[in-house]
Amino acid sequence: MQWTINDRVGMAILPVGSNLKIDRIWDSKSYYVTADVVSLVSDEVKFLTKIYRLGIGNRFMKLDKCIKSSRWRIRLDFTWTAAQKRWHVEDGFNWQVEWRRVASNRRIPLKVRWWYLDVLNINLRIRYKRDVCKLCGEVVGSKHYRGGCKGGAQLRKSLQRLPLWGKLGGKLVLWWAVWICHCFGGKEGVRRTVRKVGRELENWRCVVG
Ligand SMILES: [Zn+2]
Repeated sequence: MQWTINDRVGMAILPVGSNLKIDRIWDSKSYYVTADVVSLVSDEVKFLTKIYRLGIGNRFMKLDKCIKSSRWRIRLDFTWTAAQKRWHVEDGFNWQVEWRRVASNRRIPLKVRWWYLDVLNINLRIRYKRDVCKLCGEVVGSKHYRGGCKGGAQLRKSLQRLPLWGKLGGKLVLWWAVWICHCFGGKEGVRRTVRKVGRELENWRCVVG
C-alpha cells in the first residue's frame, strides 16, 4: 500500500510499518500522520481530501472518492488519550459526543466554548497531576475543571449575586470561572473572578442581544 501526501508536491511514500494507535505510518526514512484521524466535522473531511491520496500498487484514488466508494472505509474516530478513555469507563462520559454538542453551540459564549474544548482535549495551560488548583488547593487532574473542583460550589454562591447570572450563567460558565479563579490565584482571586465574570456577562448580553 502506498500513501501520497499533499497532491501538489506529489510525494509518494512506501510504508514499511504502521501503528494505528498513534496514527502513524513510516517508511525507511520518516514517520507520517495517517489519514485515519478525521474530524467528524464534514468541512474538515473536505480539507483532508485535498491532502491525501490512497493507492494500492500503482492504482491511486483520491480520498473523497474512497469515502464515497463502498470499497473503502475511513475511521471517523479520534485517538482517545488515556484520560479520555478513563472518563468513558468511569463516568460513561464520551468527550467526542460532548465536543459535537458544544463546538457549534452559539448559545455558549465563544470564549467559554473554546476554553471548554481545551478542557475536553486535556489541553489547559497547566501541568496535570503536578500543579495545584489555587482555588481549592488540590492537585489538578483531567476532570478538575470539568466540575471536579471542590471550590466550585462556593464560587457559584458568589456568582449568583451577579444580576445577569440567572439569565446567562450556567454550568460551563461556572467551570470557566473556576479556571479564571485559579489563574488569578491569591486572596483576591475570588473577588477578581466575580468582577471579571460580571463584566463578561454584560458583554455576552450584548452579543446574545
Ligand atoms: Zn480546584
